Amino acid sequence: MKKWISMLLVCLIAVGLSGCAGANKTKELPQNFADPQSVLDYLEQQNEIYVQAEKNNGDLSKVKRVDTAVNGQHPYAVIVTCSDSRVPAEHIFNAGIGELFVIRTAGNVIGDHALGSVEYGAEHLGAKLVIVLGHTHCGAVDAALHGGAHGAIATITDEISACLPAGCDAREAEKLNVQNSISRIMDSEMIAELVRKGETRVVGAIYNIESGAVDFFD
Ligand SMILES: [Zn+2]
Repeated sequence: MKKWISMLLVCLIAVGLSGCAGANKTKELPQNFADPQSVLDYLEQQNEIYVQAEKNNGDLSKVKRVDTAVNGQHPYAVIVTCSDSRVPAEHIFNAGIGELFVIRTAGNVIGDHALGSVEYGAEHLGAKLVIVLGHTHCGAVDAALHGGAHGAIATITDEISACLPAGCDAREAEKLNVQNSISRIMDSEMIAELVRKGETRVVGAIYNIESGAVDFFD
């Protein structure tokens, strides 16, 4: 009897595992989507799933690890976002291994290394969309608004405060900071050329750390 129960359990586990693997296989990924708008539409849908979900359904399987190790990575989007621990980029877009090329700096500011990474993701890896993703309650933006940073942190807050008008509030500052990073990215001739040719697109958005929703700029 015990043996029979053990066998039944093994079968149930096997069916469960194959069901999970099947779910990953049926999730259509936008690696082959034709244009930036299709990738943007897909990521908006995935964020809606994340807002309702309690876990990431992205493909983190051994099969995927082996596949991307052997065949390389083909991310469909570059995400430039804050290092803030409440802004987990892959989870926000319900994404697994090999899907997003993520660059994180405090305050999602763009310096030379970050810009080089954006160029690599868009030009070399062929990502069709670049998202600069700011977020609510950003400590870097708050420090830029209220001063007080020292050491190398000041290089971040100086970059942010230079783009803020006097008296602006936190919500406005978070948005202006994203737009400033977009300007820095568009200063790259390589990115500007890709955008002109319609091969990639650079968009801004704010992530609400409480609701989980991403609000893309118009
Ligand atoms: Zn932040």
